[in-house]
Amino acid sequence: MSDSRDWAAIRGDFPLLSRQVHGKPLVYLDSANTSQKPRSVIETVDEFYRLHNANVSRAVHQLGSEATDAYENSRRKLAALINVQADDLVLCSGTTFAINLVAYSWALPRLNPGDVILASRMEHHANLVPWQIVAGLRGAEMRAVEITPEGEVDRDALTRQLASGKVKLLALTHVSNVLGTVNPVREICREARKHGVVTVIDGSQALPHRAVDVAAIGCDFYAFTGHKMCGPTGTGGLWARRECWREMPPFLGGGEMIREVRFEGTVFNDPPHKFEAGTPNIAGFVGLGAAVDYLQALGMDAIEQREQALLAHAHSVLGAIPGLRIFGTASEKAAVVSFLVEGAHAHDLATLLDLEGIAVRSGHHCAHPLMQFYGVAATCRASFAFWNTFEEIDFFARSIEKVRKLLA
Ligand code: PLP
Repeated sequence: MSDSRDWAAIRGDFPLLSRQVHGKPLVYLDSANTSQKPRSVIETVDEFYRLHNANVSRAVHQLGSEATDAYENSRRKLAALINVQADDLVLCSGTTFAINLVAYSWALPRLNPGDVILASRMEHHANLVPWQIVAGLRGAEMRAVEITPEGEVDRDALTRQLASGKVKLLALTHVSNVLGTVNPVREICREARKHGVVTVIDGSQALPHRAVDVAAIGCDFYAFTGHKMCGPTGTGGLWARRECWREMPPFLGGGEMIREVRFEGTVFNDPPHKFEAGTPNIAGFVGLGAAVDYLQALGMDAIEQREQALLAHAHSVLGAIPGLRIFGTASEKAAVVSFLVEGAHAHDLATLLDLEGIAVRSGHHCAHPLMQFYGVAATCRASFAFWNTFEEIDFFARSIEKVRKLLA
């Protein structure tokens, strides 16, 4: 498929990308951390506060119904984006909240001593620590799903683990934030289901970069975060099978999640509202709806195709730099490159690149167990979005060469 989109003009949709850093044009290679926001999202949030601001689901006045409509409209847009029913999609502050919701509301009441929770070695701490906490509270056990040196799930080992009869839940990322690995979540969820293992998929790094069909994946829970997909911070969602929602007690109590409250007891609202206590990030979700519109107008397949071309270019120019080691060479990868340069500490590298105007992340990327697997304390990570250019990647590679010589 040829790429006929005007990516230079599309880049112009992002006001922040035209600023300078340390007197140099900004080269933003940290989209996996948080994405920049297009003008349409910024203007939608601005317009909401200027014209429609009110609380949702409470007031009968005009502004109240405008705010509620806008908020619920975003829920419908998000649900359509991932091919699920809007009533099964709980809006929350992001993946961290979403996974904690599953851990406390679904897992905690069900875990028994001796039960096993599996999580892959490449999980972000958000899909690891909540499981450790609830496993610890119930005397259950956490076990790692190991990976290959290329950064792919060890499928044979996983098959053996799933068949052990002890596993209650599998926590797996759709796309690794460090390695870029795209996990075969559909096949893995099918296998887990055969053994009665519930699956929790972390979609934080998938939704911004590819078309995601949650119904086709066949998981039990799918979590995502809005700020990595061109939306405002403090937005995200959790989809669950309707049977799961129906069986789950509320996670947080308060306003909005009730039907009737008496001192003798409370009748809770139906999902999704049962799990949305308190005033949500209304303006943020209205902005996230605009982000969904923006991404869909570009087309998720076109975004994926563009980013794959950028990734292939980055692998080829970075791979030619002496002493540069790339972490994560899975056969299916999203546009993330983690690397180290011999003799240079990741933080020194990132600091010197910053002086060139290049924003990359350095550190453990909230993935300590993965760093332990590779025997390193930190890596540098460049993560690309469709608005990046091939010229930026060439400049990035030249800057690494320059910095490498300075640090040698
Ligand atoms: N999971 C993955 C794979 C991530 O990359 C991140 C963020 O970096 C998270 C979870 C946590 O997302 P949030 O901080 O938005 O809750």
